[in-house]
Amino acid sequence: MKAPSKHRFIPVAHPVFAGNEKKYVTECIDTLWISSAGRFIAEFEADFAAYCGVKYAVSTNNGTTALHLAMLALGLAPGDEVIVPTMTYIASANAVTYCGATPVFVDSEPETLNIDPQLIEAAITPKTKGIMVVHLYGHPAAMDAISAIAEKHGLWIVEDAAEALGATYDGTRVGGFGRCATFSFFGNKTITTGEGGMLVTDDATLAARARLLRGQGMDLERRYWFTTVGYNYRMTNIEAALGLAQLENIDVHLEHRQKLASWYDRALSDCADTIVTPVVRTNATHSFWMYTIQMKGYTYETRDALMSSLRAENIETRPAFYPMHVMPPYYEASGAYPVAERFAKDGICLPTHGLVTEEDVDYIAKTLMMLISRAL
Ligand SMILES: *Cc1c(COP(=O)(O)O)cnc(C)c1O
Repeated sequence: MKAPSKHRFIPVAHPVFAGNEKKYVTECIDTLWISSAGRFIAEFEADFAAYCGVKYAVSTNNGTTALHLAMLALGLAPGDEVIVPTMTYIASANAVTYCGATPVFVDSEPETLNIDPQLIEAAITPKTKGIMVVHLYGHPAAMDAISAIAEKHGLWIVEDAAEALGATYDGTRVGGFGRCATFSFFGNKTITTGEGGMLVTDDATLAARARLLRGQGMDLERRYWFTTVGYNYRMTNIEAALGLAQLENIDVHLEHRQKLASWYDRALSDCADTIVTPVVRTNATHSFWMYTIQMKGYTYETRDALMSSLRAENIETRPAFYPMHVMPPYYEASGAYPVAERFAKDGICLPTHGLVTEEDVDYIAKTLMMLISRAL
């Protein structure tokens, strides 16, 4: 097959500032409310909580610190264990480790790559305090089955929803299924504040505890009176200004990703022999933070070679996450988590953001097919 002519560079992720971002950030600069006080913090928190359908939202300086605050506010302590999918971004596991507790890994279900509910009970011990679910790449985890297990064993659930803002499960948006949930607004996430994060919950005590710990442990009613050793995990008003403007356009951001996914599904439908496209369960909507495909039978070497060839054709991609248990901080002998280990080798995230056009998708699909046929 002849190589399609060179296309402009298509990044794997790209923020889109098409609303009030500049206006609100300019207001911060003009009014000098640039640090972690100002109107945008309160407004972004209130609107974000309302969007997620929960009572409280606590903004943070990134998604990892939101997860750390969640673990601290739940009282996680040395000796405790938390069930965590091995197929996740390392922040999920690290938040547990920061508290001196131990993440206990569980493999993925083959369809969605989310934590496999059927494997959770075998990982529960007398030390287990909770289950951290991660809605990987934007597809909600199997919350019915996971909630039933948590209830049966008296465990809490925390949703690491960093990748799934706007995704729904049984008609309800993610963020309200556990004791609390966390989000990230890193530059490549569905909405961004540059760096930033959010903890959401219906639990007033948990929200107050997270606020206290976020602000150095300073009493919320009495300035410079510190009741505990806390952290400086505060978001700035400038970041919240960006966040509020991004949230105002959330429907536009999400709708584009739905269209994009349907373009990819169509363009890749002829490649079913080689490419597995993302599954969307009938009771779920996928937020398509990343449209992630699997290359049947690929290895780290052939997958990485394919990604390099795509890059040479101006298509940026990213590999699936490495499972936690193959890396130095959390190393375990391989073999125990076959689904995650396979996905780590054959998974590729294709460009997924608001500037990818249908024509771009056709170019990406054609290029993929050309490279696959060349490799055969
Ligand atoms: C992005 C992300 C986070 C948080 O990342 P930050 O860069 O700290 O905002 C946490 N968990 C998952 C699964 C993520 O994808």
